[in-house]
Amino acid sequence: NNEQAAAKAAAVNADSGAPTIFDKIINKEIPSSIVYEDEKVLAFRDISPQAPVHVLVIPKFRDGLTELGKVANHLVLYADARHGEILGQLLYAAKIVAEKEGIADGFRVVINSGASACQSVYHLHLHVLGGRQMNWPPG
Ligand code: 5GP
Repeated sequence: NNEQAAAKAAAVNADSGAPTIFDKIINKEIPSSIVYEDEKVLAFRDISPQAPVHVLVIPKFRDGLTELGKVANHLVLYADARHGEILGQLLYAAKIVAEKEGIADGFRVVINSGASACQSVYHLHLHVLGGRQMNWPPG
């Protein structure tokens, strides 16, 4: 369908390393519906929810802040041992989100990494999905 075609078209744009719309969300330059925030991570509702609960969890590294932040911001594909802490923090935040949203008994955490996985925003993010029966395999 059209929506899937658009997602694929967006995904084929390889990571340019440029700031994304999520940097503007972190900086509160554009509004978002924040579910959870701490020093390191921000969780906000997806603008195009694919389930009754659909929250994105992102690291708050600003683009260009540090080499580590720059890499961690963009593709989980580039993750190395230095990213263990932030990756763990993102997963822990996903659990906090699930509890806050009342879906802790069953939810899905997804990372679309790279064009083949239909990643469309090149700022590392976890999708937390729930509130309905999830199916397997995903599309
Ligand atoms: P990806 O396809 O890269 O894994 O996921 C990117 C997600 O970001 C999509 O689910 C999309 O709906 C969401 N998204 C894109 N732009 C915005 C925005 O401006 N605000 C919010 N809240 N979500 C967005």
